[in-house]
Amino acid sequence: MTIQWFPGHMTKARRQIQEKLSLIDVVIELIDARLPLSSRNPMIDEILQGKPRLIVMNKADLADPAVTKQWIAYFKQEGHMAVEADASSGVGLKEIPILAKELLRDKIEKQIAKGMNPRAVRALIVGIPNVGKSTLINRLAGRNIAATGDRPGVTKGQQWIKVGTDMELLDTPGILWPKFEDQNVGYKLAVTGAIREEILNVEDIAFFAVKYLVRYYWEPFKERFDLKEPPQDDENPDEIVAVMEAVGRKRGCLVSGGRVDLEKASSILLRELRAGKLGRYSLEAPY
Ligand code: GDP
Repeated sequence: MTIQWFPGHMTKARRQIQEKLSLIDVVIELIDARLPLSSRNPMIDEILQGKPRLIVMNKADLADPAVTKQWIAYFKQEGHMAVEADASSGVGLKEIPILAKELLRDKIEKQIAKGMNPRAVRALIVGIPNVGKSTLINRLAGRNIAATGDRPGVTKGQQWIKVGTDMELLDTPGILWPKFEDQNVGYKLAVTGAIREEILNVEDIAFFAVKYLVRYYWEPFKERFDLKEPPQDDENPDEIVAVMEAVGRKRGCLVSGGRVDLEKASSILLRELRAGKLGRYSLEAPY
């Protein structure tokens, strides 16, 4: 279920995270590797108040690997440490406690110099709904912990989960709202399934996806649906709709008179795209 974000929810979500900041040493900011900007909270810098932060680009298994590498370099240039991960299979997760500790190296070295015994690094996972927070917590914990619910109002007793000997994680993640000030962001989130289709029209979402696939991922797209030539002009809506119709015909989405059921074709296309059947894709590149 996706949250409908209203100003009151945003204020509450923000407050809930800020209340936890005093308990932790480092924030693990989870973003979707396919859309690293659109899946980030627009106020994240302000909300985290300078707390050390590790950016984890989750669902990297679905993203275009070359583009993910560009993003990691981009974040580094911006002064942030970023890693790619696939929380569902566990790939890339071993790095997380190591890097979290690395972020706090100066502090830890000072503690050691004073003769103190540094305790495990305490971390909080934050991110927008559906980005994989619960999946990541469960994987790091090695058992089922977090309820895969995403209502910001839900509160329960907080617990620390041990992740190896070097890290402890709060069992409830911080839930943040995505960036939805521009319509393209909404479409990108909808293409990946991060927001519900009822909010935007399914055919419009598929139209947006097809336009993007035609431009950047034509070969795998063509292969999957036996398409012929790419549109001459991908800014021409009629040509994009013609591609959607070809997809529909390939999948047998026909109504009386041989017309294509575009709504059905759109749902099928999005389902296959989200499941990775068209290969790995990214919807945003940094350069
Ligand atoms: P949350 O709302 O942030 O807690 O997100 P969830 O942990 O509930 O994950 C949302 C969906 O994304 C679930 O269907 C997960 O199985 C899936 N998911 C989470 N992480 C990954 C990942 O790294 N790769 C892939 N392919 N799917 C993931």
